[in-house]
Amino acid sequence: LKSDDTPVQSGQNLRSPICCIMGHVDAGKTKLLDCIRGTNVQEGEAGEITQQIGATYFPAQNIRERTRELKADAKLNVPGLLVIDTPGHESFTNLRSRGSGLCDIAILVVDIMHGLEPQTIESLNLLKMRNTEFIVARNKVDRLYGWKTCKNAPITKAMKQQSKDVQFEFNTRLTQVVTQFKEQGLNTELYYKNKEMGETFSIVPTSAISGEGIPDMLLLLVQWTQKTMIKRLTFSNEMQCTVLEVKVIEGYGTTIDVVLVNGVLHEGDQIVVCGLQVGSNCDLNQSIVNTASDEGAPSQVTWLLLELALHEIDIVESLKTIAQLVIGTYLHHKEIKAAQGIKITAQGLEHAIAGTSLYVVGPHDDLEDIKEATMEDMKSVMSRIDKS
Ligand code: GDP
Repeated sequence: LKSDDTPVQSGQNLRSPICCIMGHVDAGKTKLLDCIRGTNVQEGEAGEITQQIGATYFPAQNIRERTRELKADAKLNVPGLLVIDTPGHESFTNLRSRGSGLCDIAILVVDIMHGLEPQTIESLNLLKMRNTEFIVARNKVDRLYGWKTCKNAPITKAMKQQSKDVQFEFNTRLTQVVTQFKEQGLNTELYYKNKEMGETFSIVPTSAISGEGIPDMLLLLVQWTQKTMIKRLTFSNEMQCTVLEVKVIEGYGTTIDVVLVNGVLHEGDQIVVCGLQVGSNCDLNQSIVNTASDEGAPSQVTWLLLELALHEIDIVESLKTIAQLVIGTYLHHKEIKAAQGIKITAQGLEHAIAGTSLYVVGPHDDLEDIKEATMEDMKSVMSRIDKS
């Protein structure tokens, strides 16, 4: 067992692990996220895709409920799980690379009917390069011929309900994918048979349509991270925050979606992000303007927003006093602690660049040092874009 060797202490202040979903186009990344979120964003039924923050937070309570049937008696030491949602941007290697850089663990989605495909291998290479832990979701099990649906059931329970033919096809396809992974230099095994986690990567069969295997996947993610990454997941006040996207939202103007990996963000914080000046000749040293404001002065966070869970929207709509704090489907917060996906509104975010870090200027910080750090950050993002 690979572990960072730090024993858990009760009441330890852990942050939520950050997980990203990767894999070939059409493997089911969006659908899988919809399924664990209990929404149907893909078909546009629930909420606007454009209003997603790009990261979804699942509180421990939610995970506990979803995994109850596994009777794992799971002690969850982490407050929840933050899943970064990049399916909308799949054509950008840079974003995939950024997403995988932020995450503690990844879900590599592989279509059971297809096995490893070009973008699966590309994702795999990114994960290997960054030494990122991952689990394999062997998705679309419901497409096996003759599959009997067992909605949201743990996978072993669902498999017991299947005919010999389905089980045979399942095993054949499993052997095929294990061989394909081997060709990539990786050992893989069904998660409940995996005795060498950390050396051998776990495969969780899932259906994003009928939910089989989803409880197993959630439990595995949380248990694995909290068991092996205590040091990494210990909450730190040292701010670590990355801009995921820059979006114009009606009622808010230009906003940035960020992933707060560590630290606490407050309303009113002075922030610095790097931006490109429009019309510049893209000479890096000249075009960088911090916070995208002409003076290069820090911006002040006006609103810190979290996306409302669907069931919360009704509640808020009925409470008119709270509703005035809310435009669209976001809830306004005074401060937000990591790890979390947050939407920020502030002046001068128009030219902010996704993939760079956000810095908070503290009372004793030197603004010039921070600007220098943003500049370095920008150069590394630009070089990644050039490579991809
Ligand atoms: P992405 O490109 O990886 O985000 O893939 P999507 O989530 O958009 O899924 C691609 C297609 O596969 C869609 O038509 C989904 O409805 C379908 N799909 C995804 N997951 C499953 C699954 O578990 N079972 C079945 N039968 N279809 C799925």
